[in-house]
Amino acid sequence: MKGTRHVRLATHMIHLMATLMLFTGCGAKGPEYLRRDPLRARAEEVGRSVEGRPLRVLTLGSGPEVILVLATIHGNENAGTPLTLALIDFLDRNPDLLSNRTVVMMPVVNPDGYYHDRRFNMNRVDLNRNFPASNRDEWRRSSGPQPLSEPESVAVKQVLDRFKPARIVSMHEPLSTIDWDGPGEDIARHMGNYVNLPVNQIGSRPGSLGSYAGVEQNIPIITLEFPRGAGRRAPEDLWRDYGRVLVSFITYPNEPPAVLRGEDILRKEKPTRPPPGDSRRRDEDGTRAFREG
Ligand SMILES: [Zn+2]
Repeated sequence: MKGTRHVRLATHMIHLMATLMLFTGCGAKGPEYLRRDPLRARAEEVGRSVEGRPLRVLTLGSGPEVILVLATIHGNENAGTPLTLALIDFLDRNPDLLSNRTVVMMPVVNPDGYYHDRRFNMNRVDLNRNFPASNRDEWRRSSGPQPLSEPESVAVKQVLDRFKPARIVSMHEPLSTIDWDGPGEDIARHMGNYVNLPVNQIGSRPGSLGSYAGVEQNIPIITLEFPRGAGRRAPEDLWRDYGRVLVSFITYPNEPPAVLRGEDILRKEKPTRPPPGDSRRRDEDGTRAFREG
């Protein structure tokens, strides 16, 4: 049982499937771009999840401006994962966008949560409340017993320390907003030009990556909140609606290239949707997750 999501992806994007397997630890064979390496692509394991799944980072390009893209730190807010994989594919075919940049990506920050379709990791910790920010809620069980108690949040912290990104985007659901922490407002407003989502500052969550990296480390960080249900949409639909805003984050302060349509990236075959209600397990975290994003 690999989860309906994997099956659905496989039906319409073998390439993405290979990438997904690489990043969720379900397979060994990497995608084409890693074999021919046109972009000096590097994939590496930077840790293991609670259940032992590899925490993987992919780095494209070698330019001085380093950009960090994070997806699925909340396992049941996973639209960012197929979007990140589509972004990899797009950058592979538009290498000029990497001429002066290094793009560092973690397509699945919380692979156990992704696999089990739940917000938290397998220690029942909300990874986005587990960072060593001064506003961390020490009394809330789901914040973890102490800052960086979880291997997944440790991996993110190590990636921050090592790559020192100039800006960060982390993708969530379902608040339908471009949110920022730290000095990220200009980037958020730039991105708002390329997507049908409002630009609003939600407020820094206790112990979140936004609080830690944005507020305390002064790194511009965007929390890109997709609408409810985004993670159940087909990857080509997601890319059609959100590919441009994601690429605008890469190209900031410049415009993204005009050639951004889902058909450019992904095959047009219709996805096989799962029957309603049979596969989206809604555990006890689910209700609160919907309010928190
Ligand atoms: Zn979230």
